[in-house]
Amino acid sequence: MTGHSFNPFEMAQAQFDKVADVLELDNSTREILRNPLREYQFLIPVRMDDGQVKVFRGFRVQHNDARGPSKGGIRFHPQETIDTVRALAMWMTWKCAVVDIPLGGGKGGVICDPHGLSEREQEQICRGWVRQLAKNVGPVNDVPAPDVMTNAQHMLWMLDEYEHIHGGKYPGFITGKPVGMGGSLGRTEATGYGVIYTVREALKNMNLDPKTTTASVQGFGNVAQYAIQLYNQLGGKVVCVSCWDQNDQTSYSFKKVSGVELKELRGITDRFGGIDKGKATKLGYEILEGDAWIEQDVDILIPAALENQVTGETVKKISRKVKIVAEGANGPTTPEADKVFEERGIYVIPDFMANAGGVTCSYFEQVQSNMNYFWDKDDVLKRLDLKMTAAYKAVHETHIKRKLYMRDAAYAIAIDRVAQACRDRGWV
Ligand code: NAD
Repeated sequence: MTGHSFNPFEMAQAQFDKVADVLELDNSTREILRNPLREYQFLIPVRMDDGQVKVFRGFRVQHNDARGPSKGGIRFHPQETIDTVRALAMWMTWKCAVVDIPLGGGKGGVICDPHGLSEREQEQICRGWVRQLAKNVGPVNDVPAPDVMTNAQHMLWMLDEYEHIHGGKYPGFITGKPVGMGGSLGRTEATGYGVIYTVREALKNMNLDPKTTTASVQGFGNVAQYAIQLYNQLGGKVVCVSCWDQNDQTSYSFKKVSGVELKELRGITDRFGGIDKGKATKLGYEILEGDAWIEQDVDILIPAALENQVTGETVKKISRKVKIVAEGANGPTTPEADKVFEERGIYVIPDFMANAGGVTCSYFEQVQSNMNYFWDKDDVLKRLDLKMTAAYKAVHETHIKRKLYMRDAAYAIAIDRVAQACRDRGWV
């Protein structure tokens, strides 16, 4: 998705193989888990606004549904490939398993660039995607959600098409719907808060009071902002945040030693998470270039922007003071940097566990939609905290007991649960 030459599916399989060895999985279990159970590839013809018909390519991959219906987003992206979708579907299987929600892993996509498409054209792609898959997705077998460049509106068009085809109301077919149309309260906060629930528990294990700690965050979008909000509520101080500058086509870090003020920064941030440099300077922020967010003398680093940010190069800049890296983003750390974390004994809260608050809340949305009864926000967040804390504790315990690196411990739990479900069902 980002133009790297590596194949994400091969990387996902390599990560799986490493842990399969640790778990001593037999060959048939490996075979069923290192490949998707089902894949759909199809064409979506759309009559464009200029009267021509354009044909788009769509995908859905159901990696594994031994623990429950597949769950995973639908991306609209010009560089979407079947291997990206396969990798993301596999990662969803592990993510749902590690937080112990009764769902499997899926992912979907369409090769298209929404920047160049009208609303009507995007609606036709959404409806076309559902028409091709109406018999293979649904509340009891595969539940889609938004992902890169899709949002609540896309989900509603998809739900509407699904309900037209099946002749009934099935709000549990899809998640990420707007609140009031079957969406869940708390979903906006869920991923960022989830990251901090795990950080809070990690600090407890280290006998550290959050009030005495500092953090630096990459990104200032949805995940980063809500992570900062809850971390501040716990008394922690964020001294630096970074974001992408669309005009300059580079990133900047915004530093305030006394602690960044979430409210004032939000007030000068656009909807893509870009902070206004001029206004930030007036508010007393020091503006730094390059990877400054990663170089800060803090206790906690939270990469919450995008993949491949902590690399073999940038990892060298990390201060000796850093104790915890909580991965809010998906795949922010390259395998090279991971080795350095392991050697230096930095405590990593791995992405598919740290950011699982999002899918956990989507599961809550599905539950609420299926029973047509909606919880208040406090209720949602309390349940989220319980789930995230339990997942974190299980991973930490495995890390200690089996002397596994945190990422491997999380994988070991997730893979073991899915393998067991396959065995219990008599598949292997
Ligand atoms: P977002 O689009 O709301 O925000 C992204 C932020 O990253 C913006 O502030 C942007 O300026 C910044 N950014 C982009 N490139 C950067 C760079 N090179 N250097 C510094 N900052 C940069 O996205 P989000 O929803 O907050 O998601 C962030 C990450 O978390 C992604 O990896 C996403 O896949 C992952 N994630 C999100 C959710 C969710 O519920 N939103 C759930 C799970 C995982």
